[in-house]
Amino acid sequence: MNVIVMKFGGTSVASTEKLKNIADIVCKEAIKNKVIVVLSAIAGETNKLQSFLDDFETQYSAESDLVLTSGEQVTIGLLSAALKIKGIKSIPLLGWQIPIITDDNHEKAKILYIDQKRIIKYFQTNDVIVLAGFQGISLDGKITSLGRGGSDTTAVAIASSVQAERCDIYTDVDGVYTTDPNIDQNAKKISKMSYEEMLEMASTGAKVLHTRSVELAMKNNLTLQVLSSLTGKTGTFIVDDKQLIEKEIVSGVSYSKNEAKVTISGILDKPGISAKIFSLMTENNINVDMIVQNISQDGVSANITFTISRKDYELTKSVLEDSNKILEYKALSLDKNVAKISVIGMGMMSQSGVAEKMFKTLAKHEINILAISTSEIKISVLINENHTNIAVKSLHDVYNL
Ligand code: ADP
Ligand code: ASP
Ligand code: MG
Repeated sequence: MNVIVMKFGGTSVASTEKLKNIADIVCKEAIKNKVIVVLSAIAGETNKLQSFLDDFETQYSAESDLVLTSGEQVTIGLLSAALKIKGIKSIPLLGWQIPIITDDNHEKAKILYIDQKRIIKYFQTNDVIVLAGFQGISLDGKITSLGRGGSDTTAVAIASSVQAERCDIYTDVDGVYTTDPNIDQNAKKISKMSYEEMLEMASTGAKVLHTRSVELAMKNNLTLQVLSSLTGKTGTFIVDDKQLIEKEIVSGVSYSKNEAKVTISGILDKPGISAKIFSLMTENNINVDMIVQNISQDGVSANITFTISRKDYELTKSVLEDSNKILEYKALSLDKNVAKISVIGMGMMSQSGVAEKMFKTLAKHEINILAISTSEIKISVLINENHTNIAVKSLHDVYNL
């Protein structure tokens, strides 16, 4: 049985007309293969649901996930109806109906297991399964979500579990670009890139793919294609790096405004203090990204700065304020007005001078660097959010992208 997985994002399902367009695309594929279509909610819908939840101050809960995942129920029902009109045997399914079993970390649940037997059974009487993205069910029977943008991860997980022939991610751009094409008109489409590059781009803010979907594709060696649901043109292939003939030194620039900076000043400079701070973060399920530590002038105390997701701002603030007895710091400050800018490229591993060029370019535009982090194929800096556009454009320019 050949299975093709096709995922359509929020803007691609945003109207009745667009859903009919998707039904046409799916029909062409369903004549030849069994198809699993994974859908997002209508663009903006999950944000609207989030704003209702904000009024009730509930997050990371069974309630918040039940509400957040409800938008997908609408789109899968409508598409399945559109397919039936076209004579296609199709069934709409929510995550729990497969089931897609996850852990119980609400709003950041990880997939533990997918029951393929049930999928095979559904295919005995159907040609197309229309599956709600972004959701699953915990072992104790509660609806969970995989985190915002998580439908990509549903698509890759289901494709891996049925060993799909292809996993195509349809969206509102016709591929992955050297930087966000909605920020810089000079951005160029990349035809092929490695999992590692895409992973760094996604995790540093290029929301075109959910980071975990890339991780999972890499683990399962599943080729992904990102393409437009409107043009039908060949998109960007994300593949194993052995398939890349030429490795760019810098292949892309990404940015994230989803950051907040935390600075704890005047902590004792002694072994174990960082462990205490980051244990607190782990206990509260707060992910920490960049970390900078420096010794104060007096040589006795130290300051530590790190970044967290903006969503965890309030939680982090209250956890740290409540922990001054343990940490004994002099001051705590949090700042939401920051952005992380990253340059990414496989060729960086064998080439020096990339960081220097980045820092010089930012200095030329009088942009102050608040924190730095690096990996083998990425350099990220934290800057004031107001400088995001100019930083992205000037870096895109200076590396000749
Ligand atoms: P979907 O709703 O289809 O999941 P998303 O909004 O999650 O779509 O992702 C697509 C968006 O990602 C594009 O509209 C674009 O603005 C943004 N984006 C950010 N960085 C990049 C990049 N390097 N290449 C392509 N798109 C990018
Ligand atoms: N609808 C969810 C969101 O907006 C999941 C997704 O679109 O991937 O985050
Ligand atoms: Mg998305």
